[in-house]
Amino acid sequence: MKADVIFLNGEVITVDADQSVVEAVAVKENRIVYVGSNAGVSDWVGTETDVIDLQGKTLLPGFIDSHLHLLLYGANQLGVSCKAKHIDSVGAILEDLRKKAKETPKGEWVRAWGFNENAVKEKRFPTIAELDAISEDHPIIITRTCNHISVVNSKALEMANINENTPNPNGGVIEKDSIGALTGKLIEAANMEMSEIASYSESELLKAAKIASDHFIQAGITSVHDAGANGSESFRILQQAIKNKDIRIRVYAIICSLNNSHEFVHKMINAGVVTGTGNERFKVGPAKLFTDGSSTGPTIATRDPYTSDSENSGILYYSEEEIYQVLGEAHKKGYQITVHAQGDKAIEMYLNCVERAIKEYPREDHRHRIEHAGISMPDLQDRIKNLGLIPIPNPPFPYEFGDTYLHNYGDRVNYMYAARDFIDRDIVAAAGSDAPVTDYHPLLGIHVAVNRKSQSGKEVGINQSISLMEAIRLYTWNGAYASFDEKIKGSIEVGKLADLIVLSESILKCKPDGIRDIKVEATMIDGELLYKAEQFVNS
Ligand SMILES: [Zn+2]
Repeated sequence: MKADVIFLNGEVITVDADQSVVEAVAVKENRIVYVGSNAGVSDWVGTETDVIDLQGKTLLPGFIDSHLHLLLYGANQLGVSCKAKHIDSVGAILEDLRKKAKETPKGEWVRAWGFNENAVKEKRFPTIAELDAISEDHPIIITRTCNHISVVNSKALEMANINENTPNPNGGVIEKDSIGALTGKLIEAANMEMSEIASYSESELLKAAKIASDHFIQAGITSVHDAGANGSESFRILQQAIKNKDIRIRVYAIICSLNNSHEFVHKMINAGVVTGTGNERFKVGPAKLFTDGSSTGPTIATRDPYTSDSENSGILYYSEEEIYQVLGEAHKKGYQITVHAQGDKAIEMYLNCVERAIKEYPREDHRHRIEHAGISMPDLQDRIKNLGLIPIPNPPFPYEFGDTYLHNYGDRVNYMYAARDFIDRDIVAAAGSDAPVTDYHPLLGIHVAVNRKSQSGKEVGINQSISLMEAIRLYTWNGAYASFDEKIKGSIEVGKLADLIVLSESILKCKPDGIRDIKVEATMIDGELLYKAEQFVNS
C-alpha cells in the first residue's frame, strides 16, 4: 500500500504517551498510516504520492480549541469592529460605519461590536444624530463590549416601534435627554430587546460560519468545542454549515444558550439530544449552564470580596439547587455536564452539585467538565481531582486581562486559569480561547501558558507556567479527551484522523518568548490540505 501524502525531514511532535518526536508521517485517505523515521517512510512512497519536505519545521496534531463561540466570532467579522487597532475615536467608528452602510443593501442592518467609551478619545458614545447622518435607510446598532448596552439610529428605533412615549421595559432603560428626546442609547433589557430585532439572518450566519472556520483553519485549529450562541437555531445553523462545507473544522457542540441557559438545556434534555450523538464532523457535547459572570466585568462570584472592592463578590445566576435540578437530571440521563464557572464560589457550588449527582447516580467515565475554572483554589483542585472533572481554562486570558486581574483579585491570580497545579495533581485540563472574547490563535495561548505574562509584561500567576510540551498537550490530546475523542484524534499515531499542521519553524528550538511569533504554514483536516501559506513549499 502506498500513501497519498508523506511528510519527512520534520520535527514531528506526536503527543503520544511517550512524548515521541520523530521525522516522518504518511497519510492515506483520511488516516495516519505511518509515524517514524525518514528511512521507514520511504516504503510508503508511490508514483502518486505527494512528498512534503518539512526542512526541520514542526509537524503537530491539529490544535483543538475546547471553548470558543464559532458563530459569535464569525458574526462579529461581518460588522464593524470597535476593537480594531485603528479605532481610537468616535470619528473613526463613524467612518467605518459609513463604508459598511455603502456596501449594505438599504433596509439591512449595519452593526458595530466591541465599543468601549473609555477606549475612544472623546470618552463618550456616538450620538443618535451622528448615526442618522450616516444613514436614515439602514438600521444601525453599536453594541458595547459588555453586550449589555447599545446605541442605535432613528431607523432602528422605528423598526422596534420605539418613540418618546414608549415606557421603559422591566429591567431596562430607553434613554432620553433633558428635554425628553431619545438619545438612541438602550440599556440592559431595552438593549436585549433591540438585539433580538437586530439578530442575524440565516444567510448572514452561514457566511459568519464560513469566515470563522477559515480563520481558525489558518491558525491551525482543526477541531473546536463550540460553547454556544443563542439557542437551538445556532445548533441547526452549525450543522447546515458543515453540510454546505462552509465549516471545514470538526465541531463538538456544547448544549447551551447565552440567554436563559436553563430553559434551553432543559428542553434539549427532554428531547433526548444526548452527548455523543453525531459523527467525526459534528458531535453533540455536554449540557452547560452559566453560573456566574465575567472575569473582566468584574462580575465573577468569589468566596471573598474583590481586592479592588470590599463590597463586591460578584453575581450568581442560579442557586445550587437550581443548578442541580437541571444538570443532575442531565447526569442521570447520561449527558456529560459542565458550567461556565469563573469565581471560586461558583466553582464550589458546581462541585457540590456534581458530588451529589455522582453519589445518587454513580457513573463510570462521565468526563464532566468546568468551563474556565477561573479561580481554582487548592481545596477546589483536590475536589476536581477526586470527582474526575476536566477543567477548561483559558490560557490567553492572563495575557489580555492579566493587569485587571491583579487589580481585582490580588494574590488569587496565582490560582487563575491554573495549569501547573492541574498537571501536578494529575488532572486532565484542556484549553479554550473563548473567542471572540480573546484572540483564538493557539500559538498565543501556548505562549502565555509557558510565559504567564500579561500583554504589558507583568507576571500573572507565574507559578502556573508549564513546559512547551505540556502546553501543546493542552491544545491537542487533552482537548480530544474532553470530547471522548482521544482514540481518533489529538496525537499523531497510526490509525488516527489525518488532522495535522505545519509550523513555520522548529518550535522546540524557539525561545519561550518567541512562541507567539511562530506562524502556521499549512493545515490538513481529514487528509486534505485546506490551508497553505504562500511560503509553504509543496515539493
Ligand atoms: Zn464562553
